[in-house]
Amino acid sequence: MSQLFASEVTLSMKFKISLFAMLCSSALLAQQHAHQHGIATATLVIDQQQIEWQMDIPADQVVGFEHAPNTPQEQAQQAAQLQKLQPHSWLVWPSAANCQLKNASFAPEPGDSAHVDYVSSASWQCADVSQIKQLQLDLFTLTTGLEQVQLQYVTPQGQGAATLTMDQNQLSFADN
Ligand SMILES: [Zn+2]
Repeated sequence: MSQLFASEVTLSMKFKISLFAMLCSSALLAQQHAHQHGIATATLVIDQQQIEWQMDIPADQVVGFEHAPNTPQEQAQQAAQLQKLQPHSWLVWPSAANCQLKNASFAPEPGDSAHVDYVSSASWQCADVSQIKQLQLDLFTLTTGLEQVQLQYVTPQGQGAATLTMDQNQLSFADN
């Protein structure tokens, strides 16, 4: 009996790990192609206790230019946007889920390609993820012209993909 239980757990873990690997490799694939201005790509994984978020957004939609900031105005613009677009400031989970932020970062990706992405990542530890019934991105108005977030997600309710926009910035997990 207990052996059966153990093998079920292993199977379900293996499934989750391969799903996560699949999401990661598709995110990697997206990174290897030139980004499209106006479009960010994101992955969200919610498991029994944790939330993991990652998003790549073109620099053009963070600061309005893609070269390294080289005037005092551009440096000030970058500093302000780095502060404003920290993922935990616009990704807020229901208080009933009792999520504690574990780490968060928002920074330009290293490298000197003609197109620069900023990478936002964050993770939370939650007491009750069943309280998380939707995702709301209060992000669009903070950016310089972000039109879409192309999201891939895995939650305890299932997995899927969605495109979020300024007018459609909520995703209900229960419906999917
Ligand atoms: Zn670009």
